[in-house]
Amino acid sequence: MNRLGKPVSYRAQINTLHTNEPAGSITDTLGRPCRDLRVSVTDRCNFRCVYCMPKEVFGRDYTFLDRAELLTFEEIVRLAATFQALGGEKVRLTGGEPLLRRALARLIAMLAGLPGLDLTLTTNGSLLAEQAPALKEAGLQRITVSLDALDNAVFQAMNDVGFRVEQVLEGIAAAAAAGLTPVKINMVVKRGMNDTSILPMARYFRGSGHILRFIEYMDVGTTNGWRLDDVVPAAEIVRRIHAELPLEPVEAQYWGEVAQRWRYRDGEGEIGVISSVTQAFCRDCTRARLSADGKLYTCLFATEGHDLRALLRGGASDEELVTAITQIWRVRADRYSEIRTAETVGLDKVEMSYIGG
Ligand code: SAM
Ligand code: SF4
Ligand code: SF4
Repeated sequence: MNRLGKPVSYRAQINTLHTNEPAGSITDTLGRPCRDLRVSVTDRCNFRCVYCMPKEVFGRDYTFLDRAELLTFEEIVRLAATFQALGGEKVRLTGGEPLLRRALARLIAMLAGLPGLDLTLTTNGSLLAEQAPALKEAGLQRITVSLDALDNAVFQAMNDVGFRVEQVLEGIAAAAAAGLTPVKINMVVKRGMNDTSILPMARYFRGSGHILRFIEYMDVGTTNGWRLDDVVPAAEIVRRIHAELPLEPVEAQYWGEVAQRWRYRDGEGEIGVISSVTQAFCRDCTRARLSADGKLYTCLFATEGHDLRALLRGGASDEELVTAITQIWRVRADRYSEIRTAETVGLDKVEMSYIGG
């Protein structure tokens, strides 16, 4: 074991995977490569955001995964290395709330040992002020922090556990000070709840060096009571900001970039809008998701996952893992957001806190 608890033999295992497997991308039925892996490290959360884990469903009686059901750090890194061998470039740790997972910095240090991997994390920021330096030291490169409003009454109505804005802002400041930059801020916009916070958020983060991203409220899972009327279209968000703070579009940096980027004309930074509902981007979707218990999902709106934990714990070789993931990705045809209708909204989809946002 080294200082951070990484088994020394692990690197040898990864090197074997990198040198023995043919490097090259796999593509799905729509020609999309698998570039990003989102890993949910826990299905638990200390918030009960109304659009994600409504209290009425995720209450005291709700059964979360047992510890033994969660993928171990070694299992996560082995799968991440396999994805990398198949053309994966980026891993984002998420959840639930990833900073609730015990010894997360050790996992980050292990993943940081995969050469060339872009390593990021999405958090609600509640535990970030204390953890940011250790995350950076372990090898985390950047961070995304969710924050839905600057007004405590609005924010607390959304997180539904009475959590205060100031503590998230402290987390954002700590992340920036630790060098987890540029910090991205995710704001889910729900009409009638926090759309009045669009302009205050834009004003506040303009010129800060942080990148504010507005996310259209989505019909993930089956519990958030989503209605199309609650969605504020990305075009409306941009229009509202542009009316006060003039914007101009920025070219996409890479294929598969989901946020449409806009910069302030006066040079005071940029924003992003993620229009998953009103302007679907499935044709560029290069994302796979790994649930906390090791099921692979090829779409955020999937109903079924593929049990990779069973393969890992059944003693599958690296070659067998590569074959299994290749077969799953090759037949992928997901394009939910392009075919969303009033009927699909009611389908039996997995919850976002489980699959990883
Ligand atoms: N707990 C962490 C957090 O909130 O940042 C990570 C997990 S959370 C599921 C990941 C992202 O998904 C967050 O930015 C959250 O706001 C977003 N999200 C959750 N439910 C959503 C919904 N119904 N529509 C759009 N975005 C949603
Ligand atoms: Fe928790 Fe994140 Fe879902 Fe909010 S969005 S309930 S913080 S997992
Ligand atoms: Fe990707 Fe599915 Fe979202 Fe389309 S709906 S962008 S395929 S995750």
